Amino acid sequence: MKLYEYEAKQIFDKFGLKIPKQLGVIEKLEEIEKMSLSFPLMVKAMVLIGGRGKAGGIKKPNSIDEAKEIIRKMLQSSIRGYPIEKILLEEAVDISNEIYLAVTTDPATFDIVVVASASGGIDIEEVAKTNPELIWKKTIFDNAKELEDTVAEEAVDFLSKNFSDKPEIKNQLKNAIKSLYSAFQNIEAKICEINPLILTSNNQIIAADAKIVLDDNSLYRQEPLLKSIGIDPQSKRHDVSEQTIFEAKAYKIGFPYLDLLENPENFVKEKDKLYVALVPGGAGYGIFSIDEVVNVGDRYFEGKVVPINFMDSGGGPSLSKVADMFHLLMDHPTTGLIITSRFGGISSCDIFIRGLIMALRDRHLQKRRMIPVFGRMVGTDLAAAREYLEKAKKETPDPLEDLHIVVGNQKIMADVIRDGIEYGFKIKKQQEIRG
Ligand code: GDP
Ligand code: MN
Repeated sequence: MKLYEYEAKQIFDKFGLKIPKQLGVIEKLEEIEKMSLSFPLMVKAMVLIGGRGKAGGIKKPNSIDEAKEIIRKMLQSSIRGYPIEKILLEEAVDISNEIYLAVTTDPATFDIVVVASASGGIDIEEVAKTNPELIWKKTIFDNAKELEDTVAEEAVDFLSKNFSDKPEIKNQLKNAIKSLYSAFQNIEAKICEINPLILTSNNQIIAADAKIVLDDNSLYRQEPLLKSIGIDPQSKRHDVSEQTIFEAKAYKIGFPYLDLLENPENFVKEKDKLYVALVPGGAGYGIFSIDEVVNVGDRYFEGKVVPINFMDSGGGPSLSKVADMFHLLMDHPTTGLIITSRFGGISSCDIFIRGLIMALRDRHLQKRRMIPVFGRMVGTDLAAAREYLEKAKKETPDPLEDLHIVVGNQKIMADVIRDGIEYGFKIKKQQEIRG
């Protein structure tokens, strides 16, 4: 669940971060009549996406007339498809430096990651691409509840190189980083981000923007928090989860699916990496698979292997649902390899392999993108599955050229994964040569 900027700021405030004074959140122009405003003032569009500044959703009027005109226009417009229904009015702070600060989770290892940069205010993904050396990043192990002083100080030293080494500023920065970390842990967030964290001309450190994404799975424990910022825990706000287009598609087809990449719709692949999609049989096995793919990648492939999603195909899916799962993964522009594994009592290996082969044959006919599939099957209807697979490979070798399924447990899954990754890299290289 994403929070609005004004809500996120109120939470950060509780954890000791300084925020600009909020004058109010309005939904109608008339509401400003009874407010006492002073100028300059920030008028900010409350939509649950970033990049509002560039899209005209952040303005700084100098008079009441100017403010009214801006608000009137904003309430009639939208930002990238999100209508502006609420506007935050708050005190404008002057800016001497803009810092980027975030606490989030590594999707592959589930360790916490703290990120800081003195190049705040702009798109941090852009900085990551063009000047990665300007970003400081630290992985925190063991789910530590507080951020150690030494780690916060390391971040501060990195940031201070770029603008100021005044002790009073360094101290405020350190507190800000530690506060953001505490907030992240206490509210069980997925992301806490401030961009920009501002250094003012009179040496104050203030959060000028704020982003919080809460973990939907822990919302039931966070009811007091939600109430404290005026959200009714029973309200429909729960439904404003930020599904990716792939998650929405999977939801429609009817199987649980999660993208591990942030922003998978516009993901920019790193050239030398292999991106692996996972079709495990069951959620627990899925978590294991993520771990195993990362481990095998670290051990044998210089850490160049990235799991990109996670699904639960257990519980006996129908033939067409199995096919749809593979279509979804092969249509996913990032996928370079699919690893699957059937390990089960409830679901039939026979139906699974038929669904998979149906998808591959259809794609081959329709000249859609083909992705190598590696996997292993053990469990229900294994004999029938083996027979069907062998026959299918003889009948239609072409569409099934890159299908490599071990039937039975003569190979451990780690080896299947390793074989798959090796093959995935080989195919990737061939495609690069062919252009
Ligand atoms: P975003 O574009 O959706 O990330 O929205 P932000 O809240 O980050 O605002 C975009 C930009 O507006 C920031 O990078 C700042 O440069 C500027 N800005 C935001 N708040 C203030 C403020 O209180 N004072 C001043 N002077 N600039 C601000
Ligand atoms: Mn911002």
